[in-house]
Amino acid sequence: MLYSKLAQAYSRLEATTKRLEMLEIAAELLRETPPEEMERVIYLTQGKIHPNWMGLPELGMAEKMAIEAVARATNVGKEEVQGLLKQLGDLGLVAERLIQEGRVKKLSQKPLTVREVYETLDRIARESGKGSSERKIMGLVSLLVNASPLEARYLVRTVEGRLRLGLGDMTILDALAEAFTGSRENRGVLERAYNLTSDLGYVARVLAEEGLEAVKRVKIVVGKPVRMMLAQRLSTAKEIVEKLNGRCSAEYKLDGERFQIHKKGSEVQIYSRRLENITYMYPDVREMALTHIKAEEAIVEGEGVAVDPETNELRPFQLLMQRRRKYRIEEMVKKIPVTVFLFDCLYADGEDLTLEPYPVRRKKLHEIIEVGPRFQITKSLVSSDPREIERFFDEAISEGCEGLVVKSTAEDSIYRAGARSWLWVKLKRSYQSKMVEPVDLVVVGAFYGRGKRAGTYGALLAAAYDHENDTFKTVCKVGSGFTDEDLAKMPSMFEEYRLPHKPPRVEALIDPDVWFNPAIVIEVIGDEITLSPVHTCAFNLLREGSGLAIRFPRFTGRWRSDKSPEDATTVKEIVDMYKAQLRTI
Ligand code: AMP
Repeated sequence: MLYSKLAQAYSRLEATTKRLEMLEIAAELLRETPPEEMERVIYLTQGKIHPNWMGLPELGMAEKMAIEAVARATNVGKEEVQGLLKQLGDLGLVAERLIQEGRVKKLSQKPLTVREVYETLDRIARESGKGSSERKIMGLVSLLVNASPLEARYLVRTVEGRLRLGLGDMTILDALAEAFTGSRENRGVLERAYNLTSDLGYVARVLAEEGLEAVKRVKIVVGKPVRMMLAQRLSTAKEIVEKLNGRCSAEYKLDGERFQIHKKGSEVQIYSRRLENITYMYPDVREMALTHIKAEEAIVEGEGVAVDPETNELRPFQLLMQRRRKYRIEEMVKKIPVTVFLFDCLYADGEDLTLEPYPVRRKKLHEIIEVGPRFQITKSLVSSDPREIERFFDEAISEGCEGLVVKSTAEDSIYRAGARSWLWVKLKRSYQSKMVEPVDLVVVGAFYGRGKRAGTYGALLAAAYDHENDTFKTVCKVGSGFTDEDLAKMPSMFEEYRLPHKPPRVEALIDPDVWFNPAIVIEVIGDEITLSPVHTCAFNLLREGSGLAIRFPRFTGRWRSDKSPEDATTVKEIVDMYKAQLRTI
């Protein structure tokens, strides 16, 4: 397969502002992809070379090196490349222009193949040690001298780790269903296989090679992260007990980072909620997993929480975020130790437990875990009495938890990978306003600041996630709650996500000064949720011509870098919160 096919599709994807069109273009590309190229095409289109969770070296060549490569390939001075970069704002466009102008002395006219591009990019990513910069530069040069102008645009962006075509996982699944089964209705089957393996390339190859029936047979594998089950929310214990038909187990909701721990003999991998491989950040957790998980092979889940090294008391989430780093890890292990509170077991010694009811999984967890001071199992209370659950809630809060997660214990209480399901319902701490809980929103645009905020952004346009059609719908403009430090770092922090037009997956009636690809998630609390004609969240659902908005929104100070845009609060949750609010007035 020729790389030019990809470049042409990317250029069309980049030009579209409509999600349906985006889907059509992606489906067409996948239909034309031979099965043996499928994984490479999927990863390249996502701007990477492997699923992130593999923890392999990723693309992200420094701009200085990429400039050097473009200069060498086109026989142009570095200064000229830098000058063009200032003018065009994107090194991909610079390379495209220079090649268009015929600056490359073609060694051969060999067209680039997908395999060659993929293998060279993989080699570039893996190069390390002495002389690696030179080898990386020459790797890119070797591609650019054979590239067409359009190919050069995307090669440079890819190698810099900045392809960003804005295709979400769900859109790719839709496109695959469309391309290979003729109907998006089959997305569910593909989504299930993806939820169990977190590997779009793998699911796509199975589909292209063996068909839909084979995709139905895909199973969980120790070492491949399972997309995590998420919780719904309600505001009172009474509502939760009713929703779960009185068959529930309430558990402490710890305020930390979710860990999915995979153990296979002496090998341990730890995955974050966004399925990044974070094993290297938590060598202490890795050690504990080896000594405290008695099963040879297991997949367990829990929450890692920062604790005080002296008192072992729970510490706030922000402190734990300091453990998210690449360097000086051992120092942080001592400074901010972590206690893991486990709450689920997905797999143990050959047994896939994801289709077992929660009490069975919990029992298995007790069987395979040897509890220690820093490796525990969450405290739980099996009860159908709302008052008893409320007391347990107060106790959880007083011990430094965020609230409770109440889980169904019914026969059908399976582990629903990747789903925000009513089998788990969270009850969070109240903030003494009508809007009882904060929400996690995706930043999709911004408005320039004035006066004291000149030079930075005055407010951010924030959106909720609509799982139904994989889009983001605006719900408020947040301008307060930011510290001077937050304001100062915002322009550079958002720079790489800037787009010259509205991102295709964003639905908005407001036109901000700048648009951003949905990437950064912030926590926001407001006074209440109101009907609003200017926001698109739940538009026309509750009232013709109105959506829902958050009134008096404030940033709580929490940049939720642990959440991906698709993990943000959903439109449906906001609708539920609005309805719950009406009941309490
Ligand atoms: P939220 O991030 O507000 O949607 O809440 C769901 C998150 O709470 C999960 O993804 C876990 O990281 C966390 N959590 C803390 N304690 C528990 C628990 N006992 N059971 C399930 N999730 C928990």
